[in-house]
Amino acid sequence: MKPSTAFREFDEHKSRLRLQAEAVRKQLAEMDFVCPGSLHVRTKVCGKSSCRCANDVEARHGPYYEWSRYEGGRLVHRIITKEQAKLVERAIDSCRTLERLFHRWHEQTVQAIIALKNHK
Ligand SMILES: [Zn+2]
Repeated sequence: MKPSTAFREFDEHKSRLRLQAEAVRKQLAEMDFVCPGSLHVRTKVCGKSSCRCANDVEARHGPYYEWSRYEGGRLVHRIITKEQAKLVERAIDSCRTLERLFHRWHEQTVQAIIALKNHK
C-alpha cells in the first residue's frame, strides 16, 4: 500500500476518533450525577412470628433501596431513600453510558494506531 493511501486511511481513523470524542463531550454536557454501582430493591421479614410478614410475601416490609458500590477497593452497601434511589439510578445509567463511549473510543484509538503501523 502506498504511503499516501496509508495516511488517508489514518486520517479517516482520526476523523472517527474526533467524532467519538465529540459524542463523549455531548453526553458529558448533559450529565450531573455519575457513579458506578448497582441498585437493588428488596423487601424484608422482621423476624417476629406474630407479624404478617412471617407468612405473607405480600406483607413483607419495604421496599428498601440498597445501593452497592466499591469504596477504597471494598464493596459497600447502603440503604437509601426512594428519592436517593432515583439519583443513584441516574448516576449508574450515566456511568454505563460513559463506559460504553470510552470503550468504543479506546478501541478506535487502538485501530487507528495499528492501521498506521501496518501501512507504513
Ligand atoms: Zn414483619
